Amino acid sequence: MESSTKSESKERRRAQYLIRRIRKFLFEGNWAVRFSVVGEDEAICRRYEIAPTSIGFCDYETQTLHVHYKKDILVIVIHEALHALYPDNDEEETLRLEQLVLDHLGPRQARNIMIALLLRLE
Ligand SMILES: [Zn+2]
Repeated sequence: MESSTKSESKERRRAQYLIRRIRKFLFEGNWAVRFSVVGEDEAICRRYEIAPTSIGFCDYETQTLHVHYKKDILVIVIHEALHALYPDNDEEETLRLEQLVLDHLGPRQARNIMIALLLRLE
């Protein structure tokens, strides 16, 4: 019982750390956010070698997070920011961190991420 409580609070601390990093990355970093239809755009798929089902991707070269603006913008920007912050993580680990963040994200934190996103929007 105690160890499960301990690991829960460790998970919560890890999530809060990630949320702070994402917020700081968006508010203070040099990266841009660009809205497009991502995978639905054939030219984008060819240029960036992404699947037609992609709803977001992280372009390290131009430091741009591409977000499908007709999908779940908040979730996509969290996911792509995690790719930008942790470029060595594979997709599976990125999805795990995304879920950890979403499980602990409060409305105020979601609001702050959305405001930061708007300030980064090209
Ligand atoms: Zn991904």
